[in-house]
Amino acid sequence: MATERFDAIVVGAGPAGSAAALTLARAGLSVVLFERGEYPGAKNVMGGVMYGRMLADLIPEFWTQAPIERVVVEERVWLATPTSAVSVGYRSAAHGPGHGMPNAFTVLRARFDRWFAAQAEAAGALLIPGTTVEDVLWDGDRVVGVRAGREGGDVYGDVVVIADGVNSFLVQKARLRDRPLEPSEAALAVKEVIALPPQVIEERFAVREGEGVTIEVYGSVTRGMAGYGFIYTNRESLSVGIGALISHLMRTKITPYDLLEGFKQHPFVARLIEGGEVQEYAAHAIPEGGYRAMPRLYGRGVLVAGDAAMMVNGLHREGSNLAMAAGRMAGEAIVQARARGDLDAAGPIYQQLLEASFVLQDLRKYRDLPDLVDRRPELLELYTRLANDVVGEMLTVDGLSKRAKQKEIWRHVREVRPLWQMAKDLYQGWKAIR
Ligand code: FAD
Repeated sequence: MATERFDAIVVGAGPAGSAAALTLARAGLSVVLFERGEYPGAKNVMGGVMYGRMLADLIPEFWTQAPIERVVVEERVWLATPTSAVSVGYRSAAHGPGHGMPNAFTVLRARFDRWFAAQAEAAGALLIPGTTVEDVLWDGDRVVGVRAGREGGDVYGDVVVIADGVNSFLVQKARLRDRPLEPSEAALAVKEVIALPPQVIEERFAVREGEGVTIEVYGSVTRGMAGYGFIYTNRESLSVGIGALISHLMRTKITPYDLLEGFKQHPFVARLIEGGEVQEYAAHAIPEGGYRAMPRLYGRGVLVAGDAAMMVNGLHREGSNLAMAAGRMAGEAIVQARARGDLDAAGPIYQQLLEASFVLQDLRKYRDLPDLVDRRPELLELYTRLANDVVGEMLTVDGLSKRAKQKEIWRHVREVRPLWQMAKDLYQGWKAIR
């Protein structure tokens, strides 16, 4: 391999890397895709919700062949105290199986990533699993290849796409970022896959075969830290997990394991997972620093996509779709630059494509949110408690007139949080997401 040369080298066969490799191979470029796992997906962890649009942009009608667990027909959010929850949700028949492209669907990454990388292989990419890329190779100020951790591991290529996920040390090696991530720029999430018979899942979540539900749980479950718990339905299992900012875990000294155990014991969660058997336990970081913590997105001979570039929209639990879209755009930018006969144009074209897409537009929109979330984690728990107090009081039929109840609620709300402070919180929240 030492003498081999490729038009493009892609590092990491997650959603970003496989999307890039697929795009490049389809355009007829010679491309090698390195993956450190024994196979793509072997080491990958995710809650499990993927989005149809970004995958259909690469593989039209993917739903006829991709290893989808369930098509999401309902998304719920619980604002939970230890004994109650205000629940909001959205259910749509139009999103269900048999209606063409699913809006969202659940996956198990070990199966999905393997399938997705196989699409890139089928298009002509050379997948090399079980191989960690350890460094990038330079010629002056240009990246000209990578050093893979195997004998004769120097591989040369016109462009390198870095898609090695969160904690990407290659981004630093490629001089696109000059420091490691701060503890406030990443969350640590733990997740279990809990096996249950499909009929039990369908009964408990009120869905039919092939249909799925997502539940995100905010409030007391994260014990004052910024984060949330989740329950996603798979075909024959539930993905159950919880995460919090690493800076908050360090401060509180709560272990992720304890957090997950506490989450599973919440009475509303416990009844959903009752009788299930834990099949898998995994932990993984999620980049949460947002737009302001992104590295430079390209250098001479190198582009970066997905988690390695901090492309996660934490508020909307989106990451895989940003990764997939960015990987595709990295591939398209390289193809366009080659067509112009100017490989140095790949970086600026990539940046332009991202700027014109939801990827950078959404990350920029929420650029102030990570700072607020890091500084004021208590707000979420406070307002969750307040929402439960208000709704609980309103729904309790105890002979008190509704006007008297309203008065009582106002008195309580003002006691917990003076109005001027609420106005300030609201303004800060609005500023962070406007
Ligand atoms: P990754 O998926 O991390 O892929 C990187 C790949 O590179 C891996 O295969 C890795 O093995 C390989 N690699 C790393 N280093 C090297 C190296 N040096 N050499 C060779 N190979 C290397 N997103 C959603 O959209 N929906 C969700 O529900 C959701 N839930 C999540 C829940 C959890 C618990 C976590 C941790 C994340 C979640 N995310 C979710 C985020 C989502 O998983 C990521 O945004 C997405 O996987 C990013 O894709 P990627 O290709 O950039 O990186």
